Amino acid sequence: MNLPVDTERVIDFLSGLLNTPSPTGYYQEVMQYVWRAIEPMNLPSLTVAYNRKGALILTLAGQRDDSPRAISAHVDTLGAMVREVKSNGRLLLTQLGGYGWQAVESENVTVQSLISGKRIRGTIQTISPSVHTAPSELRESHRDAERMEVRLDVRASNKEETQALGIDVGDLVFFDPRVEVTDTGYVKSRHLDDKAGVAALYGALLALRELGAAPAQRTTFFFSNYEEVGHGASAGIPSDVHEYVVVDMAASTTGEHQNSDEYSVGIGVKDSTGPYDLDLTRRLSALCKQEGIPYKLDTYPNYGSDGSAFLRAGGDVRVALIGPGLDASHAYERTHRDSLEATTKLLLAYLLTP
Ligand SMILES: [Zn+2]
Repeated sequence: MNLPVDTERVIDFLSGLLNTPSPTGYYQEVMQYVWRAIEPMNLPSLTVAYNRKGALILTLAGQRDDSPRAISAHVDTLGAMVREVKSNGRLLLTQLGGYGWQAVESENVTVQSLISGKRIRGTIQTISPSVHTAPSELRESHRDAERMEVRLDVRASNKEETQALGIDVGDLVFFDPRVEVTDTGYVKSRHLDDKAGVAALYGALLALRELGAAPAQRTTFFFSNYEEVGHGASAGIPSDVHEYVVVDMAASTTGEHQNSDEYSVGIGVKDSTGPYDLDLTRRLSALCKQEGIPYKLDTYPNYGSDGSAFLRAGGDVRVALIGPGLDASHAYERTHRDSLEATTKLLLAYLLTP
C-alpha cells in the first residue's frame, strides 16, 4: 500500500499546535488553528460541523457507507485556573486535568483574564522557592495546591493591586509548552498528549489529499475538546458509526510494566475501563505487520480514553485505541518522529482498507 506520510509537515503542524494554548475549556483558538490548517487542503466531499460544546467534526464521504467509521484525537490539554487571588498578590490555582504539581514547578505561564482576555506572564513555584531563605522546607515539603502559587511579572504585592490589573478567580493559566525538535528526531514539549495524536489526523488527511483517495468508508474526524476531564466524545460521534479508532498517547513508556516506546505506534488492548474491541485491535495489528509499521501492544491501567466516554454515553460501536509513544506523560513529555510517522501511517492504512 502506498502510504505517503509527510512527517516534516506533520511536525511543523504539531509545533504550531503545541504553541497554541488550549487547556480544557479554552478551545476556540486551537479549533481555529486546526481548521485553518485543514481548510486549504480542499478535500472533496468534506462536511464541517461543530457540536454545541465546541468539538470540530469533519466528515469525509467514503467509497462505501455501509460500515461508517469515526477517528478522534483531543486538542484539550492540562492547565490550571485561578482559585484565589492571595493576600500577597499571588495566585492560588486549581488544576484542569490531572497531574503532579512537581511537573509544573518553576514553569513559566501566561495568565489570561476570563473577562477581558488580557494576558500577563508569570511563574509557578512553591511558596518557599529559595534555597537561601527556607532550605529544609524547599527540599522536604511535598507539593500540593496550597504550597504552590503563581508569581506574576507585574508590580503587585497585595490582592487589591493584582485585582486592579484585571486578574481574578476563574482566569486561565497556560503552561509554557517549551517545544523543542532535536536533530536526533525527538519532539519534546508539554501537551504532546494529545496534540501528537491531532497531528496524526492532520497527516492522514494530508496523505488522502496527496493520493486523491476517498476513505474506504464514510469517516468522521472528531477533534475533541473535553477529553482531559472525561466527557470529550460523549456527544458528537454519529450514532451510526460501526467502528471508532481513538488516537491518543501510548503513555508511560518508561513506566514499570509498560510495553510502549517512542519509536512505534502503541495499540491499546485494555485500559482502566476494560478491553478495547479485540477484533478491531487484531485487524490494526495485522495492518502494521502487513505494511511494515513498527507497533507495540500495551495496556494502560491508569488511563481512560474518549472511546470509553462514547461507550459510557451509550455508543454501540467497536472501539480501538492507537497512539504515539510518549515518555513522561502529563509532565514534560517526549516522543520521536518515528512514532509520529508510524501512528500516521497506521491511521492512513486503516482509512484506506475496506
Ligand atoms: Zn490524552
